[in-house]
Amino acid sequence: MSDDEQEERRDIAQICLTGHVINPSFRLRPQFNTNFCETCGRATTNHCGSCKAPIPGAMPLIAMSKQKYLKAYCGNCGTAYPWTRLAIDETRKLAIETVELSDDERNALVESVPSLFREGPGTPVAIARFQRITLKGSRKLLSDGLKHILYTLAAEGARRQIWGP
Ligand SMILES: [Zn+2]
Ligand SMILES: [Zn+2]
Repeated sequence: MSDDEQEERRDIAQICLTGHVINPSFRLRPQFNTNFCETCGRATTNHCGSCKAPIPGAMPLIAMSKQKYLKAYCGNCGTAYPWTRLAIDETRKLAIETVELSDDERNALVESVPSLFREGPGTPVAIARFQRITLKGSRKLLSDGLKHILYTLAAEGARRQIWGP
């Protein structure tokens, strides 16, 4: 079988706007599709809101845990998915709530988040900043909150460096 045929057989993933993966096999197992997320109550989608490309889902013969299908950006047009924008917004809100942060730290933290989502030239600097700000003093509430918001979306390398294997 050629790569093209394999790709054609790749299913579509259904994900809620918050980022819970509902069903990686939208076409093959429609009985598991839902209009709303049973975990958070938000609406579900199966395509990029910008270019309408389907969200890549299950591949034949490859078993992965559901949440691994969650990606930060559309592979077709590069637009951030709704859950990615939400995670950045939530990081900003948490940074504002954390009164002991300086304005510089707050801005550096929020700016570093997109670079944690994709491996690129900016990623090592983003990790270093992120750690400097969250590990300073006793900022456990902040670092726990950020882990909750960012863990599943962070690129694998960044996730390992920040939170361990
Ligand atoms: Zn949800
Ligand atoms: Zn797109």
